[in-house]
Amino acid sequence: MDFEQLRYQVAAFAQDRDWDQFHSVRNLILALVGEVGELAEIVQWTSDDKIDELLKSGGRERLAQELADVLIYLVRVADKSQVDLAKAVSDKLAENDAKYPKDKARGNAKKYTELRDEAP
Ligand SMILES: [Mg+2]
Repeated sequence: MDFEQLRYQVAAFAQDRDWDQFHSVRNLILALVGEVGELAEIVQWTSDDKIDELLKSGGRERLAQELADVLIYLVRVADKSQVDLAKAVSDKLAENDAKYPKDKARGNAKKYTELRDEAP
């Protein structure tokens, strides 16, 4: 499924229920934040070394559901605000590629501002 198919399906879901009237950009962003909170809740209070265990014991299904909720709202926000999400992602990846040159960024987590002055 590509972004356009997803955008269409999410819009149709809302239209079929006459929910477009509730889907202001502001409301959708707030709903998106709520879903990100539900995503975070899955791992909240769980240490990194317990994540695999959590995923094996039902956590993966919960994670899949919340990731889907996040993506659905993300796609809907982009649609309602007339942002071409596929283009935005592509543009952002190109921007990040320039900010984080492979030869300087490989194997470290430094912010791009710290990489500028480093020798390759
Ligand atoms: Mg949810």
